[in-house]
Amino acid sequence: MADLRESHRFASKGVITMVGKPTLLKLVFFKTTDADWKKLYQPLIDGGNDLLKPHNMKLSFPAGDPIGIPHQGPINSRAGEPGAVRYKCHQALPVGVGIPIIFGVMEDDNIFGETFKTGNVNANGDVGWPPYCILSTKILNRTRTTLVHELIHTTLPYREGVDEHDHTDVSDVFNPAGAGSDKKDGQTIKKVLPKRWAENLRRAYFAYPG
Ligand SMILES: [Zn+2]
Repeated sequence: MADLRESHRFASKGVITMVGKPTLLKLVFFKTTDADWKKLYQPLIDGGNDLLKPHNMKLSFPAGDPIGIPHQGPINSRAGEPGAVRYKCHQALPVGVGIPIIFGVMEDDNIFGETFKTGNVNANGDVGWPPYCILSTKILNRTRTTLVHELIHTTLPYREGVDEHDHTDVSDVFNPAGAGSDKKDGQTIKKVLPKRWAENLRRAYFAYPG
């Protein structure tokens, strides 16, 4: 009897969370000249939507390939290089809706992606870009969580040098442990999107009612 009650309760919860149209997280994808973007594109979209679905949210983006920008070569996280790449996105699309997600080649071989926030003068110089993300096509995170992980970063205020990750719950998508790249063998850990991050995303500058 206990088993039946538990499964019924679980089913009811599932129905309740799906009521209403999903909140849309609006993205605009860009690609540098040398980005192997197809390697990441569908896995990170599918992986992202899998994480968002229990919270009645989903990714929304224009159909077709990412918008090409004329940048070639590895991108350093500092020295104004991300900002220079971001400026090329602005030139390609002066007025866009949503957050720019740029497929590019990061200099650091071990970076899945990186978020650059308003106030990060090392990355942006003196331009106050709203937060944007670069996804490095050198490696694919086998948990397929990189996109949502980076979007969570955008919802937290910029604080120089502060590690804002969750280091307590290894199944939290915002916990960097347990993520393997396509270049490394070994186990990955199943990740979930905890409610507190989902609620942050629901209030993000790129979130829209469905
Ligand atoms: Zn992170």
